[in-house]
Amino acid sequence: MEYFVNEKGYYGDFGGAYIPEMLYPNVEELRQNYMSIINDEGFQEEFKKLLKDYVGRPSPLYLAKRLSSKYHANIFLKREDLNHTGAHKINNTIGQILLAERLGKKRIIAETGAGQHGVATATVCALRGLECVIYMGEIDIERQAPNVARMKMLGATVVPATSGSKTLKDATNEAMRDWVNNPVDTHYIIGSVVGPHPYPDMVALFQSIISEETKKQLIEQTGRDQPDYVLACVGGGSNAMGMFYHFINDAAVKLIAVEAAGKGVSSGYTAATTALGKEGVLHGSRSILMQTEDGQVVEPFSVSAGLDYPGIGPQHAHLFKTTRAQYVSITDEEALNAGLLCTQLEGIIPAIESAHAIAQLEKMEFKAGENVVVCLSGRGDKDMETYMKYFGL
Ligand SMILES: *Cc1c(COP(=O)(O)O)cnc(C)c1O
Repeated sequence: MEYFVNEKGYYGDFGGAYIPEMLYPNVEELRQNYMSIINDEGFQEEFKKLLKDYVGRPSPLYLAKRLSSKYHANIFLKREDLNHTGAHKINNTIGQILLAERLGKKRIIAETGAGQHGVATATVCALRGLECVIYMGEIDIERQAPNVARMKMLGATVVPATSGSKTLKDATNEAMRDWVNNPVDTHYIIGSVVGPHPYPDMVALFQSIISEETKKQLIEQTGRDQPDYVLACVGGGSNAMGMFYHFINDAAVKLIAVEAAGKGVSSGYTAATTALGKEGVLHGSRSILMQTEDGQVVEPFSVSAGLDYPGIGPQHAHLFKTTRAQYVSITDEEALNAGLLCTQLEGIIPAIESAHAIAQLEKMEFKAGENVVVCLSGRGDKDMETYMKYFGL
């Protein structure tokens, strides 16, 4: 079975580039150039150097002793929370800004929901001195004031999307419109393994550093590069894709993707895409998404802003359909409690997104000595208000 992208931009039945004709030249320029740029030795050298000196990689692979004794297995946490800016998203924005420079682009645009990807994008634009425009729904701008302030302080222009539901979907439309109007000088940085080909493949490549490092660290710590399980949360799916990447073709490694059930899979307030979704086209690629009978996208819900997305990337849809990876879901309540548990057993406050992956441990049965890697995609500082409200802190 082939789990990676083919020449046509597909993963089995999923992927492709479903874009308006006006966007074709932009996407085609990227498609024709991305592999040769990324595979270039000079690019790799610069990318790896920034990941080391600026982001702080390699991120540690930490054997969490007290979680391990609770769950009767060796629980390793891959510490993406220790990266500069507090999550895995910076791995991708560093890669894409270097690619944009090599394509001769002077201006960067991005869309953001909760603001995490916007901050990661504004950060690399400040680092490289490129103009940065972030599209964000008017409602999200109100809800996420600290991230808006960060983006502005970093020198970005934050443009409110005022149409429709005034959230992520509308911000994405505005960013697309901008890109159509500025095809020559502008690169559009997408923040997850979604969008038209080649974005899902490109973002997965940049995030694959997570599993590349994990394999080396497992050899040092356990003597083999093969864990029994790998777990990660899935919004669009970029930290999970990075965590799975170098294990996908090793059938002995069980891959577990954790989606957000929100208030419950059948509550009407959920982001459990594979549990409810059907095949369709979203944001430029064929995948699985939550939609009504007549194909309208259903508004997703999760306590964690990063998992509040109605679809998953096309490679995930393929891993789901072929059953190479198992897709499960965790409710808001389960995730928040796992966040508290991780904090009190390990002294690590996880992002609520990452806490979904930790919560799944409770539902599994391990054999003694099994090695389990959980991707700790981000830190919980940004989520303190939600934790405070829920636990009455
Ligand atoms: C954005 C985000 C996610 C979800 O995005 P993926 O593309 O699914 O990884 C998960 N965790 C954190 C900390 C995030 O900021």
